[in-house]
Amino acid sequence: MDLMSLGWSNFFANSFEPYKNHGYTVGRITIEYRNQYLLHSEFGELQAEVTGKFRHQSATLQDYPAVGDWVVIRVQPTEQRATIHTVLPRKSKFSRKVAGETTQEQIVAANVDTVFLVSGLDGDFNLRRIERYLILVWESGANPVIVLNKADLCDELDQHIADVEAIAIGVPVIALSAANQQGLEALEPYLQPGQTVALLGSSGVGKSTLTNQLKGKTVQAVQAVRQSDSRGRHTTTHRELIGLPNGSLIIDTPGMREIQIWAGEDGLQETFADIEALAQHCRFRDCQHLNEPGCAVQDAIAQHELSSSRLTSYHKLQKEL
Ligand code: GDP
Ligand code: ZN
Repeated sequence: MDLMSLGWSNFFANSFEPYKNHGYTVGRITIEYRNQYLLHSEFGELQAEVTGKFRHQSATLQDYPAVGDWVVIRVQPTEQRATIHTVLPRKSKFSRKVAGETTQEQIVAANVDTVFLVSGLDGDFNLRRIERYLILVWESGANPVIVLNKADLCDELDQHIADVEAIAIGVPVIALSAANQQGLEALEPYLQPGQTVALLGSSGVGKSTLTNQLKGKTVQAVQAVRQSDSRGRHTTTHRELIGLPNGSLIIDTPGMREIQIWAGEDGLQETFADIEALAQHCRFRDCQHLNEPGCAVQDAIAQHELSSSRLTSYHKLQKEL
């Protein structure tokens, strides 16, 4: 794959200038798993790790490569391996808060050009929520395009489009039906070769349906790889940066899928999105995550996926509200 079709541009070339002619080249991260990376480069797909020096100089999680990042590498082509020396400055980034000793920001997608902000034109339609997502996209540095999905279920299409346009001045608004493959051609201007897109929106709005339509079935089948995760179980993972048949690229990371915003609720749910996401799996709907049976939050703490101090501050804030 050549660099242009991976999304390389002057923006990145300028930052790479100092490394040029010193035995370095660049690659773009397609997946990260347990400090190992896969990346695409002029040498094809390579497995990569950061150098010891990189590790020493990196103070926080967000200094580390994330899916979509351009990294400066040295390649051992015969081994299909590379070492990562630097992450080039990001054009845009999406992050989530992860709980540990201190709360840190972890990048879930980098260098996205366009975000399809997906809403459903069904009972779930909510302007306040679209507003909040828009703020998030503007802050990321990517450009939003509002996609109103499930147009087939809506009798007041023009009214809804006008309402959205009124709160999102200058933002393209596109109504379509992903499930029926109607209106998808309106997305083409944002799916040009080398352009990177990502989807954002509440669950149930049709992000997976649209993603699958864009990917086409063959791509997914080819991309599946098997590997062991940290608990020794086998899971099937996919590349999270994928080339689409038309030459554009899509970033679809679990972290990106987890970015959710709840309308009508105050900061609590946004700030503790991780706990709220876990709570969906608690046995009882009104679970307080204290010591109820089947509590997914307590399970996560037991498995060291969540710190108990974070649950404590969640409870504290909940009380204050
Ligand atoms: P996600 O959670 O955002 O990934 O949403 P999904 O892609 O899983 O879709 C949620 C539900 O909405 C599924 O039952 C889809 O079949 C349905 N759906 C997706 N797109 C459309 C559409 O254009 N029209 C209709 N009527 N249903 C759709
Ligand atoms: Zn619980």
